[in-house]
Amino acid sequence: MRQSSLVVVANRLPLDDNAAPDGACEWRRSPGGLASALHAILEGTPATWVGWGGGVGGAPILPDIGTLRLRPIALTEEELRGYYEGFANSTLWPLYHDAVEQPVFDRGWWETYRAVNHRFAEAAAEVAEPGAAVWVQDYHLQLVPQLLRELRPDVLIGFFMHVPFPPPELFMQLPRRVELLRGMLGADLVGFQREQAAHNLAQLAVKLLDAEYTAHSIRVDGRVVRTGAFPVSIDVAEMESLSARPYVRNQVAKLRHDLGVHKKVLLSVDRLDYTKGIEHRLTAYNELLRDGRLKVRDTVMVQVAVPSRERVESYRGLKDRIEGEVGRINGEYGRVGEPAIHYLNQPFDRADLAALYQTADVMVVTPLRDGMNLVAKEFVAARSDDAGALVLSEFAGAAAELEDAFLVNPHDLDGLKETLLRALDAKPADLARRMSAMRAHITYHDIHAWARAYLTALDHTGRLARTLPRQRVAAYSDRHR
Ligand code: UDP
Repeated sequence: MRQSSLVVVANRLPLDDNAAPDGACEWRRSPGGLASALHAILEGTPATWVGWGGGVGGAPILPDIGTLRLRPIALTEEELRGYYEGFANSTLWPLYHDAVEQPVFDRGWWETYRAVNHRFAEAAAEVAEPGAAVWVQDYHLQLVPQLLRELRPDVLIGFFMHVPFPPPELFMQLPRRVELLRGMLGADLVGFQREQAAHNLAQLAVKLLDAEYTAHSIRVDGRVVRTGAFPVSIDVAEMESLSARPYVRNQVAKLRHDLGVHKKVLLSVDRLDYTKGIEHRLTAYNELLRDGRLKVRDTVMVQVAVPSRERVESYRGLKDRIEGEVGRINGEYGRVGEPAIHYLNQPFDRADLAALYQTADVMVVTPLRDGMNLVAKEFVAARSDDAGALVLSEFAGAAAELEDAFLVNPHDLDGLKETLLRALDAKPADLARRMSAMRAHITYHDIHAWARAYLTALDHTGRLARTLPRQRVAAYSDRHR
């Protein structure tokens, strides 16, 4: 078994499986994101990525991607339902997103979630060389840090939560709250998108596990767990270079022409998910048309709603409601050849997304709760022309960084309507000032900076633990006795 000094453990491998023209399965590296950031940082250092390759049944044999080895995890149909669609996406996902949809507590799912987390931990234990750093990602794998620590006490374990981590009042609803908390706290460093989430974890550890905590350290079961905020980002350079491609520029011209050269374009790009606030946004747009404050002759909305988790019950109902509302709005306000909304229930590749971002006058990103929202950052990265307005929910992690967006509470429909109008009517000089400030921020805080910051903190945690364990921990516990 080949082992690596860095192991990433995530629900999915960084691959897309595409059907080749002859119908065979063809693997392609997913563009952007964590995998390319790791490549840039590691350059030549072998790392292994443990994850599910999609589909059910046996794990495929996969070639390395450069210096990145892939260790696929197989899932059965039943595991996919209990672990992924069930516990991860019908229990944890809604609960962690403010319970905007009722979480489902199904006792059978828990066992499957535990068993699958165990399989991931075993695979990580197998491919990690002695003293390796293992970086576990997200809510699907919350038990892995502790399970891995039991198998391999020698490795340095990081955990990063990409989604929000809720306040104690919500987390306390979870029937398996203690196990889940202990699972995460098996890590040496637990990272979140926002500082508030780290406070939430500390409060829960004190309440449920009798832990002690001081700034960014939780002392529990005789160990010290570090915590911190590491807001995730995007590959800014990749989006900029995509945006400059001739294909993209031609697409922008074509979209402009097709949508109406003189019209203001409102754009939204989301997975079709109840956390994204699509219904609130449609209601606001509908009312602006109804009140005559917007007219179809000079405004058009484009809503990309990528199919997502279609086998999960609450997602099917949502799709029906959204499509009904889009139909009603177009039926009432559209004209022949001039719909009020273009609704696209299909995925777009990154070049076409870049073209859409550059075509928009106002990008409307209004989730009810979102760990970060990368679409907001991609829009900013695509706008090297310093034009375009970003309307951004206060409840997206990105709002903590993109303070020059038009920030809005999406639950406040009147506020949302006013903000949309303000963004549509903003002066180019105001928009340019806002956009250049936001671009300056994300250029500096890109995905590479994120991965570097996290791995440096993890390394530091490891050094502290290895070089000064006894004195530090003793001094720490004396102070907090
Ligand atoms: N995305 C895509 N094609 C689409 C729509 C979205 O590739 O048609 C990508 C988008 O570029 C972004 C990601 O999906 O990188 C969505 O991330 P975000 O954080 O906004 O939301 P999530 O889906 O993770 O909740």
